[in-house]
Amino acid sequence: MVYRGVARVIQPETYQVHTFDSWADLSVREGEDCVRTVRLAFRVPEVILLTRHARMPLREVPFSRRNLYRRDGYRCQYCGLHGPTSELSIDHVVPRSVGGGTCWENCVLACLDCNVRKANRTPLEAGMELRRPPARPPWSPCLMVHVGRRRASWEKFVSDQYWNVALEAD
Ligand SMILES: [Zn+2]
Repeated sequence: MVYRGVARVIQPETYQVHTFDSWADLSVREGEDCVRTVRLAFRVPEVILLTRHARMPLREVPFSRRNLYRRDGYRCQYCGLHGPTSELSIDHVVPRSVGGGTCWENCVLACLDCNVRKANRTPLEAGMELRRPPARPPWSPCLMVHVGRRRASWEKFVSDQYWNVALEAD
């Protein structure tokens, strides 16, 4: 795609954007993965930018049980317990009985112990702390696929934006 010009390479350290030619001009450092052709050796692109997809399919992430489990990483948002769906339940941060909504911003995963302990109270009333404020994921958690080898350079393009997304004011 980079060679055909439909994508550019982003240099993760500097955020510089390269065409195929300017990328191929960079020298390959010792021990670094590279692609070899008959004439060239160039660094393996780790982050690319599509040039012909100006509009990303930014559909809103459906608020669903499955997506909520994905957003919270199958982890209790109070104590951090990681477990199967059978050990986790959906907690309304502000209880429904006092007007808390069933939405991305008010629902988190909680293990059964934490759910019982929190009962029908807010985290403040229960003296419990959320690991992170719940928010709508900025894109489909389906994209958060597990790949065999996760590159360190991807973190600043994926994880940071995912977890540090500004909470929507509503
Ligand atoms: Zn818990």
